[in-house]
Amino acid sequence: MAKIQMKTPLVEMDCDEMTRILWQWIKDILILPYVDLKSEYYDLGLKYRNETNDKVTVDSAEATKKYGVAVKCATITPNAARMTEYDLKEMWKSPNGTIRAILDGTVFRTPILVKGVTPYIPTWTQPITIARHAYGDVYKNTEMQVKKGSKAELVVTDAEGNETRQEIFDFKDTDGIIQGLHNKDNSIRGFARACFNYGLDLKQDVWFASKDTISKKYDHRFKDIFQEVFDAEYKEKFEALGIEYFYTLIDDAVARVIRSNGGYIWACKNYDGDVMSDMVSTAYGSLAMMTSVLVSPDGIYEYEAAHGTVQRHYYKYLKGETTSTNSVATIFAWSGALRKRGELDNTPELCAFADKLEKATIQTIEEGVMTGDLYLISKLENKKKVDSEEFLKEIGKRLDAMV
Ligand code: NAP
Ligand code: MG
Repeated sequence: MAKIQMKTPLVEMDCDEMTRILWQWIKDILILPYVDLKSEYYDLGLKYRNETNDKVTVDSAEATKKYGVAVKCATITPNAARMTEYDLKEMWKSPNGTIRAILDGTVFRTPILVKGVTPYIPTWTQPITIARHAYGDVYKNTEMQVKKGSKAELVVTDAEGNETRQEIFDFKDTDGIIQGLHNKDNSIRGFARACFNYGLDLKQDVWFASKDTISKKYDHRFKDIFQEVFDAEYKEKFEALGIEYFYTLIDDAVARVIRSNGGYIWACKNYDGDVMSDMVSTAYGSLAMMTSVLVSPDGIYEYEAAHGTVQRHYYKYLKGETTSTNSVATIFAWSGALRKRGELDNTPELCAFADKLEKATIQTIEEGVMTGDLYLISKLENKKKVDSEEFLKEIGKRLDAMV
C-alpha cells in the first residue's frame, strides 16, 4: 500500500515519562505504516529542555507559528522533586505556559465519548467543549490585607497624569482584604475570535456567560466585546452554517448546561473555565479521554491530550512491569493535527486517514477491548483489559481493515 503523502510538515513536540513511551508506540503502530510523516521534531523532554536552557520550547512554539499545526505530548512541569530527579539548572517554567504565551492562544478541551462509559450526567450524549480565557482576572491579581482604620481606593493615572479615584471600602471598624483585577480589550477580543473560529470549525453553537448584572463595567465589557466581534465578523458565517452565538448569565448557563445534551462550545472567563473544565471532564468519566487544543486568534493549532505524563505508570514500566495506560487522548491529538494539516493543505486523503484512526480507536473500545482506567467504569458486558501496547495493536488491526 502506498503511504499517504503530506505537503507540509507539522511540528512534533516529544515529551516525558509514560506518555513519551506511548508517543513512540503510537507513531510506530498507528501512524508511520500509513503516512509518510513529515514532521519538524522538537524534543521537549525535560532532559533536553534543561540542556538547551529551555530554548527548545521557545523554538518549538516559533516553528508552530511558521507551520500552523503542532502535536504535543505531555511534559513535566518541574517542581522541587524534579530539580533533584533531573539535576536541573533551573526550575524551568511549564512548557504549556510558554507555548500559550507565544501563540496567545485559547485552550479548548473536549471529551471523547464511547458506548459503555456513561457520563455522570447521563443526558450529556454529546461532548461539551470548554474554552477557557487564559489571561488576567484573578490569575494576575494584586491583593492586600488591610488594617482596621484603612481606606482602600482604586486609583487610575491616565497618560496625562490625571488621577481618577474611587473608593473600594472604608475599613473603619475591622481588618480586611482587597484585590485588584484587570483584563485587556485585545486579549478578550482574541479570546472571542478563537471561540467563534472554533465554533465554525466544529459547526457548533458558542455559549458565553458572565456576571454582567452585578459587574456592570468589568464583566459587561466581556459581554460587549463578544457581541461586537460576533456582529462585525461572524454573524453571517454562523447563519450560513445554521449555528448560534448565545449569551446568558453565568448562573443561568450552569443550569442550562446541566439540563443540556451537550454538543456546543462553552466559552468561560478564566476562573469559570478553571473550575468548570474540571467539573465537566470528571463528569464525562476519564481524564484519559479528554483532548486539548490550543488555538491562536490567527488560526494556529496545537493539539495534545489534557492529562499529564502518567508518572506512576512510568515507574512501573521502568521496573519492567506491564502497564495499562490509556493512549486515546494522545491518539486523538495526532488525528486532530493530521486532519488540520490535511484541511490547510487540501489533502483529503490525510483527513480521511485521521477520521479512520479515530473510528478504529473508538471501535476497539466499543468492541470491549480497553485499558484499565476504562475497564473500571465501562458498563459493557464482554470487556477485556489489555496492556498499553496491546491496546495500540488492537486499534492497528481495525485500522488495517479500514485503509
Ligand atoms: P497525570 O499524568 O495526568 O496522572 C494522574 C493519574 O491519572 C495517573 O496516575 C492515573 O491514575 C490517571 N491517568 C492520567 N492519564 C492517564 C492515562 N492516559 N491512562 C490511564 N490513567 C491515566 O498527572 P500527574 O501524575 O499529577 O502529573 C504527572 C506529570 O505530568 C507532572 O510532572 C505534571 O507536571 C505533568 N502534567 C503535564 C501536563 C501537560 O503537559 N499537558 C498536564 C498535567 C500534568 P492511576 O495512577 O490511578 O492509574
Ligand atoms: Mg482547574
